[in-house]
Amino acid sequence: MVKIESADIKEREARLVISDTSPYFVNALRRAMLREVPKLAIEDVIFYENSSPLFDEIIAHRLGMIPLPTDLDVLVPREECTCNGEGCPNCTVRYTLSREEPGMVYSGDLQPENEKWRVIDPNIPIVELFEGQKLILEAEAILGKGKDHAKWQAVVAPGYKYYPIIEINQDKLDEDSIKKAIEICPKKILEEKEGKLVVKDIEKCTLCKSCVEVVEEGAIQVRGDETKFIFTYETDGSLDAKTLIIKAAEILENKFKELEKLIG
Ligand SMILES: [Zn+2]
Repeated sequence: MVKIESADIKEREARLVISDTSPYFVNALRRAMLREVPKLAIEDVIFYENSSPLFDEIIAHRLGMIPLPTDLDVLVPREECTCNGEGCPNCTVRYTLSREEPGMVYSGDLQPENEKWRVIDPNIPIVELFEGQKLILEAEAILGKGKDHAKWQAVVAPGYKYYPIIEINQDKLDEDSIKKAIEICPKKILEEKEGKLVVKDIEKCTLCKSCVEVVEEGAIQVRGDETKFIFTYETDGSLDAKTLIIKAAEILENKFKELEKLIG
């Protein structure tokens, strides 16, 4: 059974040590996060006036990339909604933007119909207006998935690495080779203690094996544990890190249940 040996889950980033598993499992989790976990993003924009230096399409694209707070307990995908795709409060979040004075228009100028949906980061620049220019629009945000467009990808840089295993044969090391190994390690995770080479922070090891090459053969062995992984990811803020991984796991579970039904 898969085990979580340690989990450091913050609001927007997480680091987990997952053991008793395989690369296939952690990669499936990573891919579910990238492609399947839904989030809210602006999809349709109606321009009432745009005399800014940018075309409508460019502004619409920029608006699409702004992270929006996503409550997956409230929202349903439009294609599954009871409104039959017309757009209702269960599947659609509406914003307005109206700027007629010169200066930079920021993401924070988007006014949500309900404060609950106010943009997470109000300081993302959209376009700069000069004297006499205007930008007046209405935008509709809906749930989507990363596999359809990057704007619906809540996770940032999900990745994993094998948990390092470092075996040291002290009999094959002397003062000089210990010094060489400590010096060459790019992560500075080796140190000398009472004449012995010791590892001080194994999780920082990148399996580069530089230390292996500067000592006698067999003195240091470095390899990755193929059943244990360090899994890290961040989010763009639309979902918190905990919700993101739980949703990814639920999605995988449902996919396997479907498969079970199809076979059974
Ligand atoms: Zn609807």
